[in-house]
Amino acid sequence: MKVLVMNCGSSSLKYQLINMENEELLAKGIAERIGIEGSFVKHETIGKEKAVIEERMEDHKAAIKIVLEALINKEYGTIQSMEEITAVGHRVVHGGEKFSGSVIINEEVKSVLEECSELAPLHNPPNLMGIYACEEILPNVPMVGVFDTAFHQTMPKESYMYALPYELYEKYKIRRYGFHGTSHKYVAMKAAELLGKSLEDLNIITCHLGNGASIAAVKNGQSVDTSMGFTPLEGLAMGTRCGDLDPAIIAYWMAKENLTIAEVNNLMNKKSGVLGVSGVSSDFRDLEDAADQGNERAQLALDLYYQRVKKYMGAYAAEMGGVDAVVFTAGLGENSAIARKAICSGLEFLGIKIDDEKNNIRGKEADVTTTDSTVKVLLIPTNEELMIARETKSLVG
Ligand code: ADP
Repeated sequence: MKVLVMNCGSSSLKYQLINMENEELLAKGIAERIGIEGSFVKHETIGKEKAVIEERMEDHKAAIKIVLEALINKEYGTIQSMEEITAVGHRVVHGGEKFSGSVIINEEVKSVLEECSELAPLHNPPNLMGIYACEEILPNVPMVGVFDTAFHQTMPKESYMYALPYELYEKYKIRRYGFHGTSHKYVAMKAAELLGKSLEDLNIITCHLGNGASIAAVKNGQSVDTSMGFTPLEGLAMGTRCGDLDPAIIAYWMAKENLTIAEVNNLMNKKSGVLGVSGVSSDFRDLEDAADQGNERAQLALDLYYQRVKKYMGAYAAEMGGVDAVVFTAGLGENSAIARKAICSGLEFLGIKIDDEKNNIRGKEADVTTTDSTVKVLLIPTNEELMIARETKSLVG
């Protein structure tokens, strides 16, 4: 069984073809600049030379056609014919309150997703474009939607409600949803496997620290709280997003600088976070270098970032009544020993003891704690695509 995993953004499309008999990655690639001048597909069949196909792509349908042609290309392709694709798994950002798990895509699902577009105007429309395009090109291939929000649908009401007038929830579904759910679920499952325990018996804090960042409290296999909320702006400080702040700042800032709602939204999403504080970069590699060279604002941005993660870890340990393991994943979590060490320092009282030698590692599954650390800190590279393929297999298989 071969599953094609699709992740459609507004002008890009990432894909992987996975053999689900043995979970082997067969091919991966990305179509970029869809609908813009200079579009291309970078395709890689594992074990063969990479190919770059420069071709005009008006829309996602055109992009998917080129991706499928690349997959069956005699020279750099992966499979003999499109018939070998058993199913397509689509990453969908927002499943609203309707979907607490992955679903086979049918007419009803599509209309619910259209409704959810209002909640995620930047993400759901391109996800839907990918679904419609695949449907036209591969009409008899079943498709599954895997939602970033689904894993967090187990949050209890006190976690997902805002302290706002209740009518806002009833009228507009204003509540906390949480994101990165596929990643949090994957690393929590992997953590249980690495610890040789059942997920149902563990309290795990999962830290997905990439460009966007979120943290989740996973109790007995279920997400009971997470830092992102109604949108991916809430919670931790991020590369360019502000995370938690006093909401009164927004009106004050708008009045002082004569800003529109769209402008202030853009500033909070694109010009804040560690970029805004440091004035240097949103990339943690640049910040670590700048801090090394004595740049105080870069160091402040890093310290503020670490402090927010630590604060949530303490909160989630309290919410779950203890913690057995902490997982670090995504770009920063997988690659920065400095970040893992700084975040965990001072948490010895919780039973966390980092082993500096073991922590000096990147991008590989590892336990980075001392043998007497009662809470295990694990580095687990995330694999959202594999998780999407697994969900697809379990529904279609
Ligand atoms: P995205 O949210 O875009 O998927 P990633 O999970 O790829 O993000 O994470 C990207 C971030 O990871 C980069 O902005 C960078 O700051 C950080 N990162 C990647 N490699 C390193 C490294 N070696 N050291 C520190 N930070 C890193």
